[in-house]
Amino acid sequence: MPFDQLGLAPSLLEAVAAAGYSEPTPIQAKAIPAVLDGQDVLAAAQTGTGKTAAFTLPLLHRLGESQEKKPRVLVLAPTRELAAQVNESVRTYGKSGAIRSTVIFGGVGYQPQIAQFKKGVDIVVATPGRLLDLLQEGHADLSNIQTLVLDEADRMLDMGFIHDIKRVLKYVPEKRQTLLFSATFSKDIRKLAANLLHKPVEIDVAPRNATADRIDQKVVMVEKPRKRAVLSHLIKENGWHQVLVFARTKHGANRLCKQLDSDGLPAAALHGNKSQNARTKALDGFKNGDIQVLVATDIAARGIDIESLPYVVNFELPNVSEDYVHRIGRTGRAGEAGEAVSLVGPDERKLLKDIEKLIGKQIERMTVEGVDMRAGENDEADERPARRPNNGGGNRPPKRGGGGGGNNAPGRNQQRRRSRGGNRGGNRSGGGGGGNGS
Ligand code: AMP
Repeated sequence: MPFDQLGLAPSLLEAVAAAGYSEPTPIQAKAIPAVLDGQDVLAAAQTGTGKTAAFTLPLLHRLGESQEKKPRVLVLAPTRELAAQVNESVRTYGKSGAIRSTVIFGGVGYQPQIAQFKKGVDIVVATPGRLLDLLQEGHADLSNIQTLVLDEADRMLDMGFIHDIKRVLKYVPEKRQTLLFSATFSKDIRKLAANLLHKPVEIDVAPRNATADRIDQKVVMVEKPRKRAVLSHLIKENGWHQVLVFARTKHGANRLCKQLDSDGLPAAALHGNKSQNARTKALDGFKNGDIQVLVATDIAARGIDIESLPYVVNFELPNVSEDYVHRIGRTGRAGEAGEAVSLVGPDERKLLKDIEKLIGKQIERMTVEGVDMRAGENDEADERPARRPNNGGGNRPPKRGGGGGGNNAPGRNQQRRRSRGGNRGGNRSGGGGGGNGS
Protein backbone atom coordinates (compact mmCIF):
# COMPACT_ATOMS: atom_id res chain seq x y z
CA MET A 1 0.00 0.00 0.00
CA PRO A 2 1.49 3.36 -0.93
CA PHE A 3 1.82 6.15 1.65
CA ASP A 4 -0.83 8.32 0.02
CA GLN A 5 -3.55 5.78 0.75
CA LEU A 6 -3.07 5.88 4.49
CA GLY A 7 -5.03 9.07 4.97
CA LEU A 8 -2.16 11.37 5.97
CA ALA A 9 -2.21 15.11 5.28
CA PRO A 10 -0.40 16.30 2.12
CA SER A 11 2.29 18.12 4.13
CA LEU A 12 3.16 14.85 5.88
CA LEU A 13 3.27 12.98 2.59
CA GLU A 14 5.69 15.61 1.34
CA ALA A 15 7.86 15.14 4.42
CA VAL A 16 7.84 11.38 3.88
CA ALA A 17 8.82 11.82 0.25
CA ALA A 18 11.56 14.26 1.27
CA ALA A 19 12.89 11.63 3.69
CA GLY A 20 13.16 9.31 0.70
CA TYR A 21 10.67 6.68 1.85
CA SER A 22 8.96 5.08 -1.10
CA GLU A 23 6.46 2.98 0.81
CA PRO A 24 5.36 2.40 4.40
CA THR A 25 7.10 -0.30 6.39
CA PRO A 26 4.77 -3.07 7.64
CA ILE A 27 4.31 -1.46 11.04
CA GLN A 28 3.53 1.89 9.45
CA ALA A 29 0.96 0.34 7.14
CA LYS A 30 -0.79 -1.18 10.14
CA ALA A 31 -0.34 1.43 12.84
CA ILE A 32 -0.98 4.65 10.92
CA PRO A 33 -4.66 3.98 10.12
CA ALA A 34 -5.32 2.75 13.68
CA VAL A 35 -3.69 5.79 15.29
CA LEU A 36 -5.49 8.15 12.91
CA ASP A 37 -8.69 6.45 13.95
CA GLY A 38 -8.00 7.28 17.59
CA GLN A 39 -7.58 3.68 18.68
CA ASP A 40 -5.18 2.35 21.28
CA VAL A 41 -2.31 0.35 19.83
CA LEU A 42 -0.17 -2.41 21.26
CA ALA A 43 2.72 -2.99 18.90
CA ALA A 44 5.52 -5.52 18.94
CA ALA A 45 8.23 -3.74 17.05
CA GLN A 46 11.89 -3.26 17.55
CA THR A 47 14.12 -0.43 16.44
CA GLY A 48 14.69 -0.48 12.72
CA THR A 49 11.13 -1.33 11.76
CA GLY A 50 10.16 2.30 11.20
CA LYS A 51 8.12 2.40 14.41
CA THR A 52 8.93 6.04 15.18
CA ALA A 53 7.30 7.28 12.00
CA ALA A 54 4.48 4.79 12.61
CA PHE A 55 3.31 6.91 15.53
CA THR A 56 4.73 10.38 14.81
CA LEU A 57 3.13 10.72 11.37
CA PRO A 58 -0.47 9.99 12.41
CA LEU A 59 -0.09 11.98 15.64
CA LEU A 60 1.13 15.00 13.72
CA HIS A 61 -1.84 14.56 11.42
CA ARG A 62 -4.23 14.50 14.36
CA LEU A 63 -2.74 17.60 15.96
CA GLY A 64 -3.32 19.46 12.72
CA GLU A 65 -2.03 22.98 12.34
CA SER A 66 -3.24 24.48 15.57
CA GLN A 67 -1.01 25.30 18.51
CA GLU A 68 -2.12 25.07 22.10
CA LYS A 69 -0.41 26.15 25.27
CA LYS A 70 -0.57 22.78 26.99
CA PRO A 71 0.94 19.68 25.36
CA ARG A 72 -1.44 17.26 23.70
CA VAL A 73 0.96 14.39 23.01
CA LEU A 74 3.37 12.80 25.48
CA VAL A 75 5.98 10.27 24.38
CA LEU A 76 7.87 8.46 27.13
CA ALA A 77 11.17 6.84 26.14
CA PRO A 78 13.83 4.97 28.13
CA THR A 79 16.97 6.90 27.15
CA ARG A 80 17.99 10.41 26.26
CA GLU A 81 19.24 9.22 22.90
CA LEU A 82 15.94 7.63 22.00
CA ALA A 83 14.00 10.66 23.25
CA ALA A 84 16.21 12.97 21.19
CA GLN A 85 15.78 10.74 18.17
CA VAL A 86 11.98 10.70 18.46
CA ASN A 87 11.98 14.47 18.82
CA GLU A 88 14.15 14.69 15.73
CA SER A 89 11.62 12.59 13.80
CA VAL A 90 8.78 14.83 14.96
CA ARG A 91 10.70 17.82 13.65
CA THR A 92 11.56 16.11 10.37
CA TYR A 93 8.03 15.01 9.58
CA GLY A 94 6.36 18.05 11.06
CA LYS A 95 8.56 20.56 9.31
CA SER A 96 5.89 22.28 7.35
CA GLY A 97 3.36 22.41 10.17
CA ALA A 98 3.02 24.61 13.21
CA ILE A 99 3.46 21.85 15.74
CA ARG A 100 6.06 22.54 18.42
CA SER A 101 7.87 19.73 20.19
CA THR A 102 10.38 19.52 22.96
CA VAL A 103 12.59 16.85 24.46
CA ILE A 104 13.02 16.45 28.19
CA PHE A 105 15.75 14.36 29.83
CA GLY A 106 18.04 14.40 32.81
CA GLY A 107 21.70 15.32 33.02
CA VAL A 108 21.19 18.81 31.62
CA GLY A 109 19.93 22.07 33.14
CA TYR A 110 16.32 22.51 34.18
CA GLN A 111 15.77 26.09 33.08
CA PRO A 112 15.54 25.65 29.29
CA GLN A 113 13.08 22.78 29.83
CA ILE A 114 10.95 24.85 32.20
CA ALA A 115 11.00 27.69 29.68
CA GLN A 116 9.68 25.35 26.96
CA PHE A 117 6.63 24.49 29.02
CA LYS A 118 6.06 28.15 29.83
CA LYS A 119 6.20 29.10 26.18
CA GLY A 120 3.76 26.38 25.20
CA VAL A 121 4.45 23.11 23.42
CA ASP A 122 2.35 20.54 21.55
CA ILE A 123 4.43 17.37 21.77
CA VAL A 124 6.63 16.41 24.71
CA VAL A 125 9.15 13.59 24.32
CA ALA A 126 10.66 12.68 27.67
CA THR A 127 12.49 10.21 29.82
CA PRO A 128 10.29 9.53 32.86
CA GLY A 129 12.59 10.71 35.66
CA ARG A 130 13.21 14.29 34.62
CA LEU A 131 9.63 14.75 33.50
CA LEU A 132 8.47 13.64 36.93
CA ASP A 133 10.79 16.18 38.55
CA LEU A 134 9.26 18.96 36.45
CA LEU A 135 5.74 17.77 37.21
CA GLN A 136 6.33 17.59 40.94
CA GLU A 137 7.76 21.08 40.92
CA GLY A 138 4.75 22.34 39.04
CA HIS A 139 6.64 23.30 35.88
CA ALA A 140 4.81 20.96 33.54
CA ASP A 141 1.10 20.53 32.99
CA LEU A 142 -0.07 17.34 31.32
CA SER A 143 -3.78 17.80 31.95
CA ASN A 144 -4.45 18.29 28.25
CA ILE A 145 -2.69 15.16 26.96
CA GLN A 146 -4.75 13.38 24.33
CA THR A 147 -2.27 10.71 23.32
CA LEU A 148 0.33 8.94 25.42
CA VAL A 149 3.04 6.90 23.71
CA LEU A 150 5.24 4.45 25.59
CA ASP A 151 8.19 3.80 23.32
CA GLU A 152 10.42 0.80 23.98
CA ALA A 153 8.32 -0.01 27.00
CA ASP A 154 10.28 -3.20 27.71
CA ARG A 155 13.43 -1.15 28.13
CA MET A 156 11.73 1.28 30.43
CA LEU A 157 10.71 -1.59 32.68
CA ASP A 158 14.20 -3.13 32.48
CA MET A 159 15.66 0.18 33.56
CA GLY A 160 13.45 0.35 36.60
CA PHE A 161 11.25 3.20 35.37
CA ILE A 162 7.94 1.57 36.20
CA HIS A 163 7.37 3.60 39.35
CA ASP A 164 8.26 6.87 37.66
CA ILE A 165 5.92 5.99 34.78
CA LYS A 166 3.09 5.29 37.18
CA ARG A 167 3.68 8.59 38.93
CA VAL A 168 3.77 10.49 35.63
CA LEU A 169 0.50 8.83 34.61
CA LYS A 170 -1.25 10.43 37.57
CA TYR A 171 -0.77 13.77 35.81
CA VAL A 172 -2.20 12.54 32.49
CA PRO A 173 -5.97 12.38 31.84
CA GLU A 174 -7.40 8.89 32.06
CA LYS A 175 -9.45 9.44 28.95
CA ARG A 176 -6.85 9.44 26.24
CA GLN A 177 -5.36 7.41 23.42
CA THR A 178 -2.48 5.17 24.45
CA LEU A 179 0.12 3.56 22.19
CA LEU A 180 2.57 1.04 23.55
CA PHE A 181 5.61 -0.11 21.60
CA SER A 182 7.82 -2.90 22.86
CA ALA A 183 10.32 -5.20 21.23
CA THR A 184 9.46 -8.07 23.51
CA PHE A 185 6.37 -9.01 25.46
CA SER A 186 7.19 -10.19 28.92
CA LYS A 187 4.53 -10.85 31.54
CA ASP A 188 5.20 -7.40 33.00
CA ILE A 189 4.63 -5.69 29.67
CA ARG A 190 1.39 -7.60 29.20
CA LYS A 191 0.30 -6.50 32.65
CA LEU A 192 1.17 -2.89 31.95
CA ALA A 193 -0.67 -3.04 28.63
CA ALA A 194 -3.73 -4.57 30.26
CA ASN A 195 -3.82 -1.68 32.74
CA LEU A 196 -3.18 1.14 30.32
CA LEU A 197 -4.73 0.21 27.01
CA HIS A 198 -8.36 0.08 26.06
CA LYS A 199 -9.27 -2.52 23.43
CA PRO A 200 -5.98 -2.00 21.63
CA VAL A 201 -5.32 -2.89 18.03
CA GLU A 202 -2.54 -5.45 18.32
CA ILE A 203 0.21 -5.21 15.77
CA ASP A 204 2.99 -7.71 15.43
CA VAL A 205 5.08 -6.91 12.42
CA ALA A 206 7.55 -9.73 12.58
CA PRO A 207 7.08 -13.00 14.35
CA ARG A 208 8.33 -12.39 17.83
CA ASN A 209 12.11 -12.52 18.03
CA ALA A 210 12.54 -13.62 14.45
CA THR A 211 15.76 -12.19 13.12
CA ALA A 212 15.70 -10.50 9.78
CA ASP A 213 16.81 -12.70 6.91
CA ARG A 214 18.76 -9.89 5.39
CA ILE A 215 21.16 -9.88 8.33
CA ASP A 216 24.12 -12.12 7.68
CA GLN A 217 24.86 -13.69 11.08
CA LYS A 218 28.10 -15.43 11.94
CA VAL A 219 29.72 -16.88 15.01
CA VAL A 220 33.46 -17.06 15.62
CA MET A 221 34.44 -19.50 18.35
CA VAL A 222 37.42 -17.94 20.06
CA GLU A 223 38.96 -18.04 23.51
CA LYS A 224 38.29 -14.91 25.46
CA PRO A 225 41.82 -13.52 25.62
CA ARG A 226 42.06 -13.70 21.82
CA LYS A 227 38.84 -11.84 21.11
CA ARG A 228 40.38 -8.44 20.84
CA ALA A 229 43.01 -9.64 18.32
CA VAL A 230 40.28 -11.34 16.27
CA LEU A 231 38.16 -8.20 16.34
CA SER A 232 41.00 -5.95 15.20
CA HIS A 233 41.90 -8.44 12.50
CA LEU A 234 38.33 -8.68 11.20
CA ILE A 235 37.96 -4.91 11.06
CA LYS A 236 41.26 -4.39 9.31
CA GLU A 237 41.12 -7.32 6.90
CA ASN A 238 37.55 -6.61 5.81
CA GLY A 239 37.93 -2.84 5.76
CA TRP A 240 34.91 -2.37 8.04
CA HIS A 241 34.52 1.38 8.19
CA GLN A 242 31.71 1.71 10.72
CA VAL A 243 31.41 -1.01 13.33
CA LEU A 244 29.16 -1.12 16.37
CA VAL A 245 30.63 -3.43 19.00
CA PHE A 246 28.59 -4.59 21.97
CA ALA A 247 30.37 -5.09 25.25
CA ARG A 248 28.74 -6.47 28.34
CA THR A 249 30.04 -3.97 30.86
CA LYS A 250 31.02 -0.31 30.93
CA HIS A 251 34.44 -1.24 32.22
CA GLY A 252 34.86 -3.77 29.42
CA ALA A 253 33.75 -1.20 26.84
CA ASN A 254 36.30 1.34 28.07
CA ARG A 255 39.09 -1.19 28.12
CA LEU A 256 38.32 -2.51 24.65
CA CYS A 257 38.27 1.03 23.28
CA LYS A 258 41.75 1.72 24.57
CA GLN A 259 43.00 -1.52 23.09
CA LEU A 260 41.44 -0.87 19.69
CA ASP A 261 42.92 2.60 19.69
CA SER A 262 46.33 1.12 20.34
CA ASP A 263 45.73 -1.26 17.42
CA GLY A 264 45.31 1.82 15.24
CA LEU A 265 41.52 1.69 15.10
CA PRO A 266 39.86 4.93 16.22
CA ALA A 267 37.28 3.87 18.83
CA ALA A 268 34.94 5.45 21.37
CA ALA A 269 32.81 4.03 24.17
CA LEU A 270 29.12 4.73 24.65
CA HIS A 271 27.53 3.80 27.97
CA GLY A 272 25.54 5.12 30.86
CA ASN A 273 28.51 6.56 32.73
CA LYS A 274 29.36 8.94 29.93
CA SER A 275 28.21 12.53 30.13
CA GLN A 276 25.71 13.76 27.59
CA ASN A 277 28.48 15.71 25.92
CA ALA A 278 30.73 12.69 25.65
CA ARG A 279 27.90 10.63 24.18
CA THR A 280 27.00 13.24 21.62
CA LYS A 281 30.64 13.63 20.66
CA ALA A 282 31.12 9.87 20.31
CA LEU A 283 27.97 9.52 18.20
CA ASP A 284 28.85 12.46 15.97
CA GLY A 285 32.36 11.12 15.46
CA PHE A 286 30.96 7.71 14.60
CA LYS A 287 28.47 9.16 12.15
CA ASN A 288 30.96 11.35 10.36
CA GLY A 289 33.60 8.61 10.15
CA ASP A 290 36.20 10.00 12.56
CA ILE A 291 35.48 7.10 14.83
CA GLN A 292 35.58 3.72 13.17
CA VAL A 293 34.47 1.58 16.08
CA LEU A 294 31.82 2.43 18.63
CA VAL A 295 31.85 0.15 21.66
CA ALA A 296 28.53 0.27 23.45
CA THR A 297 26.59 -1.44 26.21
CA ASP A 298 23.09 -2.66 25.36
CA ILE A 299 21.11 0.18 26.84
CA ALA A 300 23.33 2.96 25.48
CA ALA A 301 23.16 1.44 22.02
CA ARG A 302 19.40 1.61 21.84
CA GLY A 303 19.40 5.26 20.95
CA ILE A 304 21.81 5.08 18.06
CA ASP A 305 19.98 5.92 14.90
CA ILE A 306 22.18 5.50 11.91
CA GLU A 307 20.78 4.57 8.55
CA SER A 308 22.09 1.22 7.37
CA LEU A 309 24.64 0.52 10.05
CA PRO A 310 26.63 -2.12 8.20
CA TYR A 311 28.45 -4.14 10.87
CA VAL A 312 27.56 -5.23 14.37
CA VAL A 313 29.89 -7.29 16.53
CA ASN A 314 29.02 -9.00 19.78
CA PHE A 315 32.27 -8.92 21.69
CA GLU A 316 30.44 -10.91 24.31
CA LEU A 317 27.04 -12.51 23.94
CA PRO A 318 24.27 -10.87 25.94
CA ASN A 319 22.98 -12.70 29.00
CA VAL A 320 19.42 -12.34 27.83
CA SER A 321 18.76 -13.94 24.46
CA GLU A 322 16.26 -11.28 23.37
CA ASP A 323 19.04 -8.71 23.58
CA TYR A 324 20.82 -10.56 20.79
CA VAL A 325 17.87 -9.81 18.53
CA HIS A 326 17.93 -6.15 19.57
CA ARG A 327 21.63 -5.91 18.96
CA ILE A 328 21.76 -7.40 15.51
CA GLY A 329 18.64 -5.40 14.65
CA ARG A 330 20.94 -2.40 14.62
CA THR A 331 22.17 -3.56 11.25
CA GLY A 332 20.07 -4.46 8.23
CA ARG A 333 17.65 -1.65 8.97
CA ALA A 334 14.99 -0.43 6.62
CA GLY A 335 15.81 -2.89 3.89
CA GLU A 336 19.61 -2.62 3.90
CA ALA A 337 21.83 -5.67 4.16
CA GLY A 338 23.89 -6.06 7.30
CA GLU A 339 26.45 -8.29 8.91
CA ALA A 340 26.48 -9.41 12.53
CA VAL A 341 29.42 -11.32 13.96
CA SER A 342 29.49 -12.78 17.47
CA LEU A 343 32.74 -13.68 19.18
CA VAL A 344 31.87 -16.61 21.40
CA GLY A 345 34.15 -17.96 24.11
CA PRO A 346 33.97 -21.46 25.56
CA ASP A 347 32.09 -20.12 28.59
CA GLU A 348 29.39 -18.63 26.34
CA ARG A 349 28.29 -21.82 24.61
CA LYS A 350 25.16 -22.06 26.72
CA LEU A 351 24.19 -18.47 25.87
CA LEU A 352 24.73 -19.23 22.19
CA LYS A 353 22.50 -22.28 22.44
CA ASP A 354 19.75 -20.23 24.07
CA ILE A 355 19.97 -17.59 21.34
CA GLU A 356 19.80 -20.18 18.58
CA LYS A 357 16.78 -21.70 20.24
CA LEU A 358 15.11 -18.30 20.39
CA ILE A 359 15.75 -17.37 16.76
CA GLY A 360 14.98 -20.89 15.64
CA LYS A 361 18.11 -21.55 13.64
CA GLN A 362 21.77 -22.35 13.94
CA ILE A 363 24.09 -19.44 13.30
CA GLU A 364 26.83 -20.16 10.81
CA ARG A 365 30.30 -20.72 12.30
CA MET A 366 33.12 -18.81 10.70
CA THR A 367 36.85 -19.30 10.99
CA VAL A 368 39.21 -16.36 10.88
CA GLU A 369 42.48 -17.00 9.06
CA GLY A 370 45.66 -15.40 10.28
CA VAL A 371 44.89 -15.09 14.01
CA ASP A 372 45.50 -17.56 16.77
CA MET A 373 42.18 -18.43 18.37
CA ARG A 374 43.69 -20.09 21.40
CA ALA A 375 44.89 -18.17 24.41
CA GLY A 376 48.59 -18.02 25.22
CA GLU A 377 50.42 -17.22 28.44
CA ASN A 378 50.76 -13.55 27.61
CA ASP A 379 47.09 -13.10 26.84
CA GLU A 380 46.02 -14.19 30.27
CA ALA A 381 47.95 -11.47 32.02
CA ASP A 382 46.95 -8.89 29.47
CA GLU A 383 43.26 -9.61 29.53
CA ARG A 384 42.66 -10.26 33.18
CA PRO A 385 40.32 -7.63 34.57
CA ALA A 386 42.02 -5.19 36.87
CA ARG A 387 41.69 -5.72 40.63
CA ARG A 388 39.66 -8.85 40.28
CA PRO A 389 40.88 -12.24 41.43
CA ASN A 390 41.09 -14.85 38.72
CA ASN A 391 38.36 -17.32 39.60
CA GLY A 392 39.91 -20.19 37.73
CA GLY A 393 38.92 -18.97 34.30
CA GLY A 394 35.21 -19.29 34.98
CA ASN A 395 34.00 -16.01 33.58
CA ARG A 396 30.47 -16.37 34.77
CA PRO A 397 28.21 -13.72 33.31
CA PRO A 398 26.68 -11.43 35.89
CA LYS A 399 22.97 -11.86 36.48
CA ARG A 400 20.76 -9.38 34.68
CA GLY A 401 20.33 -6.32 36.80
CA GLY A 402 23.42 -7.27 38.79
CA GLY A 403 26.32 -4.93 39.37
CA GLY A 404 28.32 -5.90 36.32
CA GLY A 405 25.94 -5.62 33.42
CA GLY A 406 24.84 -2.79 31.24
CA ASN A 407 23.58 0.50 32.42
CA ASN A 408 22.83 1.00 36.06
CA ALA A 409 19.97 3.36 35.51
CA PRO A 410 17.93 2.09 38.45
CA GLY A 411 20.86 3.06 40.66
CA ARG A 412 20.71 6.53 39.21
CA ASN A 413 17.02 6.62 39.89
CA GLN A 414 17.52 5.68 43.48
CA GLN A 415 20.08 8.38 43.80
CA ARG A 416 17.72 10.88 42.28
CA ARG A 417 14.90 9.82 44.54
CA ARG A 418 17.10 10.15 47.55
CA SER A 419 18.14 13.61 46.50
CA ARG A 420 14.55 14.52 45.85
CA GLY A 421 13.60 13.23 49.29
CA GLY A 422 16.45 15.13 50.87
CA ASN A 423 15.17 18.32 49.35
CA ARG A 424 11.63 17.81 50.41
CA GLY A 425 10.10 20.99 51.71
CA GLY A 426 13.16 22.95 50.72
CA ASN A 427 14.18 24.81 47.66
CA ARG A 428 15.59 22.29 45.22
CA SER A 429 16.83 24.72 42.66
CA GLY A 430 20.29 24.82 44.19
CA GLY A 431 20.95 21.14 43.60
CA GLY A 432 18.56 20.77 40.70
CA GLY A 433 20.94 20.92 37.79
CA GLY A 434 23.31 18.36 39.19
CA GLY A 435 20.86 16.13 41.05
CA ASN A 436 20.13 13.98 38.06
CA GLY A 437 23.51 14.21 36.47
CA SER A 438 25.26 11.26 34.96
P1 AMP B 1 12.86 3.29 13.69
O1 AMP B 1 12.42 1.86 13.71
O2 AMP B 1 11.77 4.21 13.95
O3 AMP B 1 14.05 3.50 14.57
O4 AMP B 1 13.33 3.63 12.19
C1 AMP B 1 14.42 3.00 11.60
C2 AMP B 1 14.92 3.72 10.37
O5 AMP B 1 14.06 3.50 9.27
C3 AMP B 1 15.05 5.22 10.54
O6 AMP B 1 16.36 5.57 10.16
C4 AMP B 1 14.03 5.81 9.57
O7 AMP B 1 14.51 6.99 8.98
C5 AMP B 1 13.86 4.71 8.54
N1 AMP B 1 12.51 4.63 7.98
C6 AMP B 1 11.33 4.87 8.62
N2 AMP B 1 10.29 4.67 7.80
C7 AMP B 1 10.80 4.29 6.62
C8 AMP B 1 10.21 3.93 5.36
N3 AMP B 1 8.90 3.91 5.17
N4 AMP B 1 11.05 3.59 4.33
C9 AMP B 1 12.38 3.60 4.53
N5 AMP B 1 13.00 3.93 5.69
C10 AMP B 1 12.23 4.26 6.73
